[in-house]
Amino acid sequence: MNTLLFTNANIVLEREVLQGALLVKDGKIAGLYGQNASLPGADEILDIEGKYILPGGIDPHVHLHLTTPNGISSDDFYSGSKAALKGGTTSIIDFITPRRGQSMLEAIAGRKTEAKTSLVDYTFHLTPVEWTENTAQEMIQAIHSEHITSFKVYMAYKESIGLEDDALEMVLRTAGRFGGIVLVHAEQGDEIVRRVQELHRAQKTSPRYHPVSRPPHTETEAVEKIVRMATANKCPLYVVHTSCGSSIERVYEKALIKSGSPVFFETCPQYLLFNDEVYQSSQENALAFMMSPPLRPLPEQKLLKKYFLQGKIQSIGTDHCPFTREQKNREAQDFSKIPNGAGGIEYRMQLIFNEMIVKEGKSIIEFVKLVAGNPAKIFGLYPRKGVIQKGSDADLVIWDPDKDFVIDTGHQWQQTDINIYEGYRGKGAPVAVFRRGRKMIENDRLTGTCKGTFLPRKPWKKESL
Ligand SMILES: [Zn+2]
Repeated sequence: MNTLLFTNANIVLEREVLQGALLVKDGKIAGLYGQNASLPGADEILDIEGKYILPGGIDPHVHLHLTTPNGISSDDFYSGSKAALKGGTTSIIDFITPRRGQSMLEAIAGRKTEAKTSLVDYTFHLTPVEWTENTAQEMIQAIHSEHITSFKVYMAYKESIGLEDDALEMVLRTAGRFGGIVLVHAEQGDEIVRRVQELHRAQKTSPRYHPVSRPPHTETEAVEKIVRMATANKCPLYVVHTSCGSSIERVYEKALIKSGSPVFFETCPQYLLFNDEVYQSSQENALAFMMSPPLRPLPEQKLLKKYFLQGKIQSIGTDHCPFTREQKNREAQDFSKIPNGAGGIEYRMQLIFNEMIVKEGKSIIEFVKLVAGNPAKIFGLYPRKGVIQKGSDADLVIWDPDKDFVIDTGHQWQQTDINIYEGYRGKGAPVAVFRRGRKMIENDRLTGTCKGTFLPRKPWKKESL
């Protein structure tokens, strides 16, 4: 294949929807044509009958093949990336989490090897799990030599990968100075550890106590603290999996964001769609929703949804990290030992399309920003990814806004026998997915097997979202 022309399309650009045609040449977008333009010839011409063409989705928060104390998560890079493609996601950002004592650069090499089976393009956020005499230098090398420019810090899990305040400060300062951006898992780790111990002493260990161990204020207070630290260090900050509306409310109410030091909020579909009632239902259901942060009380869910619809959330990730029922069941009597996480990579775009456009009447341009454009801009992938314009990679999703779908655990491509969205009905789905010009998916069939590639990124630069 050399050239491919899509005709009769509604092409979702950054600021408008163009009715016309799109030319792909050698894996790149080579031309855009309005309705009256004369069209070039092409080796293949596809009339897509008025459907949308969207830029391929970017899921900025996934954990494939994640090693945990309770075993390895059930999707590897092959199965997880295949599920991503089916749902219209053509690039992912996963994580590199070294062991304490291990060089971050060595960990990068190891994780890149694990990702080689991915069918989507990929890069990683790098996690400093401690502050040593080498950490600053390794961060700088990661940015400039490895082209990995985002760093994830954990305020919880201090016994394994989380950081104390002085180390957080150093990571923020270094990233801010040398062109990095910091992602934060914002939960007050010390308080959570205390609460888990108290619940254990009281023999309250069933899954329904998981949210009791991590109440909303453990997120809200952590968000306030880290936003203050990041802005003081002039470091761009990205708050992952924001689960409480009040975390966002507090940052805006107290006017904590300073010019020149942006703060971005990510949430995940599960926090928009569910609340903590799930932990009061059957144990099976409670286990499926075992994740951190936990699902929140209804008022927090509503507030989160309000800010999402107001555009105060800039990015949608999934925190995709599925386990099987068997894995979740192994330690079902103790919430602190149950593997945390759920799958979502396959349905992120359909869920958000349905929630935002079908139910709330928002524009498709806003939708594309949240699932592709903004993640590309925030994480240094733009304009290669996340946008339809001449010269960008031809990662394209042919999207049928009228296609009905029902989420059915038995038919998912995510490699697990759990699906927290089981039974969800909506409208809007991909009919074909192209990655760098190759047709990878057509009508829910895998049609391409050519592997994805590592995406080198640029140092952080402010882009208008
Ligand atoms: Zn995560």
